[in-house]
Amino acid sequence: IIEIRHLQKHFGDLHVLHDIDFNVNKGEVVTIIGSSGSGKSTLLRCINLLEIPDGGEIKFDKQNILDTKMDLGKYRSKMLMVFQSFNLFNNLSVLQNCMIGQTKVLKRSKEEAKQRAMAALKQVGMEAFANADSTRLSGGQKQRVAIARALCMDPEVLLFDEPTSALDPEMVGDVLDVMKSLAKQGLTMVIVTHEMQFAKDVSDRVIFMDKGVIAEQGNPNELFEHPKQERTRQFLSRFA
Ligand code: ATP
Ligand code: MG
Repeated sequence: IIEIRHLQKHFGDLHVLHDIDFNVNKGEVVTIIGSSGSGKSTLLRCINLLEIPDGGEIKFDKQNILDTKMDLGKYRSKMLMVFQSFNLFNNLSVLQNCMIGQTKVLKRSKEEAKQRAMAALKQVGMEAFANADSTRLSGGQKQRVAIARALCMDPEVLLFDEPTSALDPEMVGDVLDVMKSLAKQGLTMVIVTHEMQFAKDVSDRVIFMDKGVIAEQGNPNELFEHPKQERTRQFLSRFA
């Protein structure tokens, strides 16, 4: 569903992504691990064009999304990002947070949007909070609402950038459980995470990034138990 070839990104003199190649197949869960500064967030941001790559190709459903004729809004709604910092609309209730994209972007009726929102909130275990003020929620609850809000748009791919890094440890499990259940349902996901056990459990494929390149990728057992590269071993030893 996503094909990336020779992707390049610079910030000024800093060469952040070097010739990145990878695919994400429909229904696949791909996790991206690697040290701080290795380019993980930049890669995700390039995939949904929050950053514009300087070279290479990104295809989504066989269409080149760097083609200037692409409808960006439409593309982004198929490929939603969940952020470390939740990015909920603070002046809106939980339910309104989940409805606004549906009514504004997908032009759904209020009734339909509400039904979809309630189903999504149920999926993440937050339906009891539908009318709550989103500022009153805990971090873990906010993140589950952010996931529900994304699900409401019926995306083809969900991108997660360290969705649990800003959470207190006792809330991490709830969010990871929601993500595991989405993985089981066959949602296509690309997840940047520092939660190695989770990555091992949930991934079909793990990508290890180091200094702007994909240093190694493979199925989680191979990569975690028998890393081929010395730098992968070194990185993983920090989590042992
Ligand atoms: P972390 O684990 O800390 O989130 P990361 O792997 O996500 O790290 P990136 O955020 O992709 O790393 O950053 C890669 C490099 O690009 C870093 O050196 C960072 O300082 C730089 N960088 C990222 N965004 C920008 C920007 N908008 N302008 C300039 N430099 C940037
Ligand atoms: Mg990052």
